[in-house]
Amino acid sequence: MKLIIRNRERGYEMSHKYVYLFTEGNGKMRELLGGKGANLAEMTNLGLPVPQGFTITTEACTKYYEDGRSINDEIKAEIMEYITKMEAITGKKFGDLENPLLVSVRSGARASMPGMMDTILNLGLNEQVVEVMAAKSGNPRWAYDCYRRFIQMFSDVVMEVGKKYFEKLIDAMKERKGVHFDNELTAEDLKELAEQFKAEYKNQLGEDFPSDPKEQLFKAIEAVFRSWDNPRANIYRMDHDIPYSWGTAVNVQMMAFGNLGDTSGTGVAFTRNPATGEKGLMGEFLMNAQGEDVVAGVRTPMPIAQMQEILPEVYTQFLDVCNTLENHYRDMQDMEFTIEDKKLYMLQTRNGKRTAAAAIKIACDLIDEGMISEEEALMQIDAKSLDMLLHPQFDPAALKKAEAVSKGIAASPGAAAGTIVFTAEDAVEHGKKGEKVVLVRLETSPEDIEGMKYSQGILTVRGGQTSHAAVVARGMGTCCVSGCGDIKMDEENKVFTLHGKTYHEGDVLSLDGSTGNIYAELIPTIPADPNSGYFGRIMELADKYKTLGVRTNADTPKDAKQAAAFGAQGIGLCRTEHMFFDPSRIGAFREMICSETVEEREAALAKIEPMQQADFEGLFEALGGYPVTIRFLDPPLHEFVPTDEADIAALAASQGKTVAYIKQVINDLHEFNPMMGHRGCRLAVTYPEIAAMQTKAVIKAALAVKSRHADWNIVPEIMIPLTGEVKELKFVKDIVVKTADEVIAASGASLKYEVGTMVEIPRACLTADAIAEEAEFFCFGTNDLTQMTFGFSRDDAGKFLPAYYGSKIYESDPFARLDTTGVGQLMEMAVTKGRSVRPGMHCGICGEHGGDPSSIEFCHKIGLSYVSCSPYRVPIARLAAAQAAIKNK
Ligand code: ADP
Ligand code: MG
Ligand code: MG
Repeated sequence: MKLIIRNRERGYEMSHKYVYLFTEGNGKMRELLGGKGANLAEMTNLGLPVPQGFTITTEACTKYYEDGRSINDEIKAEIMEYITKMEAITGKKFGDLENPLLVSVRSGARASMPGMMDTILNLGLNEQVVEVMAAKSGNPRWAYDCYRRFIQMFSDVVMEVGKKYFEKLIDAMKERKGVHFDNELTAEDLKELAEQFKAEYKNQLGEDFPSDPKEQLFKAIEAVFRSWDNPRANIYRMDHDIPYSWGTAVNVQMMAFGNLGDTSGTGVAFTRNPATGEKGLMGEFLMNAQGEDVVAGVRTPMPIAQMQEILPEVYTQFLDVCNTLENHYRDMQDMEFTIEDKKLYMLQTRNGKRTAAAAIKIACDLIDEGMISEEEALMQIDAKSLDMLLHPQFDPAALKKAEAVSKGIAASPGAAAGTIVFTAEDAVEHGKKGEKVVLVRLETSPEDIEGMKYSQGILTVRGGQTSHAAVVARGMGTCCVSGCGDIKMDEENKVFTLHGKTYHEGDVLSLDGSTGNIYAELIPTIPADPNSGYFGRIMELADKYKTLGVRTNADTPKDAKQAAAFGAQGIGLCRTEHMFFDPSRIGAFREMICSETVEEREAALAKIEPMQQADFEGLFEALGGYPVTIRFLDPPLHEFVPTDEADIAALAASQGKTVAYIKQVINDLHEFNPMMGHRGCRLAVTYPEIAAMQTKAVIKAALAVKSRHADWNIVPEIMIPLTGEVKELKFVKDIVVKTADEVIAASGASLKYEVGTMVEIPRACLTADAIAEEAEFFCFGTNDLTQMTFGFSRDDAGKFLPAYYGSKIYESDPFARLDTTGVGQLMEMAVTKGRSVRPGMHCGICGEHGGDPSSIEFCHKIGLSYVSCSPYRVPIARLAAAQAAIKNK
């Protein structure tokens, strides 16, 4: 029922329809047909040359999983019906000995997941069909090439035999024939290979390779559905916030043959440079090749411009198609094509993945070319990706002095400096320890993704701009230099040589992803600037459209200045305790903790007060008059006391106390569950003098800065943490107000200040109306609020959350991405209740979620006044806030 309603809203009905011809679909049906299927249909509608076929919907995939991983009879029958339709359209027939139909079976989810799932080419071949094809075409080499590829892919993808067994056989054959490349093998060689492959298949699986094309097809379709749940795809989905429930569609498409000979080929191209955004066709192709050959690095591909010389008419036609597609989608396109004996076929188009640098340039260019509006430009950029623009660049002076030892293809921009590792596992191992590593490989494959994430940069011997390493690195925002053929690699022994010098694991290397230069030294890096060029323009536009404020979480003037440079409009959270951990201060603070009387405690606090005041002055100065929220002491006191004997003895000596006494104090601070113990405002309730001292420091700092900058509107915001009950808030607020008013009166000046609370306990949300009687503002501390709402601690959740992800109970980390259904509901309730008592009160968020785009959209929807995030996330938050405003206009 639900399904039917949902479909009606989208303008198409019939929830039972699970299969669509390309001619029945269109580009808007991406949810149902997947991105690939929807775009194949759209290209068909545009009249472009697309090998015809049909798409099995994402709903069929969901059904497959619902039915216990099996394709039910109804859907099977529908697929059979569409095979018949396809046979009629193409004039070819499955398994036919006159005119056999060969197809590809391709995965395609709603969001593109390049290389994550599986595709099978040349399906429909068996020993009779291949003979007929060889004889009738007069091109046996082609027929056997298709056959051996099919057996290889089917075995790998459908039966999970593993590519390596087949690659070994190919290598052995090439060696025996004394050739280097696949395309040098003859028809006879390939025929023999196909036989060897089938034998290997039987050897591995104990059964014959299936020769019935329909059996092959259903097995392949199932394999694609199954690949939705493979480990690679699962990791990719988590990284990209793609819900498991979406499922993948399956495309069954007539083959176009790029391996027919020297007037055939296959390639990939972008309408603009995906690394830099530069306008102009960019791509690579290979003659007499098929499918993944270009990206898999079996031979070094040619740049697309060379097609002009080899096949000028096809090149002109292709340029035309590229223009049509870019104008139609009004975005940079990433396309796959095949040329079958001088005839061009389009196999895929999608909005191309790009680096952040390319994204902002393309967005600006498309505005200037009159292709898109400012709003559309902002929506086109992946907010999270801006992070990579803030990554350090090489210090230009140091770079000038450095001497490159070699050069590869500049595949993904950025600067990487680190020590060499040779395997993804080593990258993970060292990376986890915080070591900076550069991963050097012959070429990468999807199994390397985890290791690539932990690397500063990736260097490959093979492959070009569109190799696996290049594409994945660009997606991650990691620097990559590919195709450095000078390197003589010995992966097994973890060494390579480059111009006579040998490099081992642990040796240093720097990569410049913008030039392709490779350096055998560590080049220092400096941070980037978001206020100029395309980045500056996009940020300005973001500010024009966003309605949410963006503040920063900053504890030091240095962080605050950085955040202000990134565009922060205030501090949403200053954690004052971080100021005590400094070795020069911790002594006075420990003295306070070890005090036996109020007087002793006040004396110790008096030492801390001027230090805090100086810190706060620095923060007010750094923000130039923007609001600053200062949270009072929050963590349990045990975090400040020493644990080892020598430190305890030293503390005792400096305090003039006995070691036994100090140990007693430390012992008394022990709690079974410190995160739910003596912390937050509970500290101020038991030690009011701490709150009084902090108030004095804040107010004095504000008065001092105000006296220096008469035109700044300084209104300090004092934030009481961990409130759960209005009376405890009132208790602490009374101390703050009394102290503040005394300080202000004594100064003879005037100052406005606000006292609010951090909302981080569910009870505070439930009683937010009562709390708002006292609190002048709310700021959601969603780290604690999440932990208390879920009832598990952030520090311990790492142990069991992976099992929850594995079982699909949770799809994302609730500490990274706001749980809008649970925690979000509490927030919304608190805002509504709070403002019912205190209309228009400002409400912000200062948990980790304040820098997460999808969480920011939620904050916009529930009417928060601002989000506050770490300095390096400020530009992300500005763009995400603009996107939320545009999306929810
Ligand atoms: P991916 O999503 O990993 O790119 P694809 O389904 O696009 O996988 O297919 C892998 C390769 O096979 C691509 O290079 C594609 O162009 C090629 N290919 C897919 N279907 C056909 C077909 N019907 N004819 C020729 N080549 C095809
Ligand atoms: Mg593809
Ligand atoms: Mg907290």
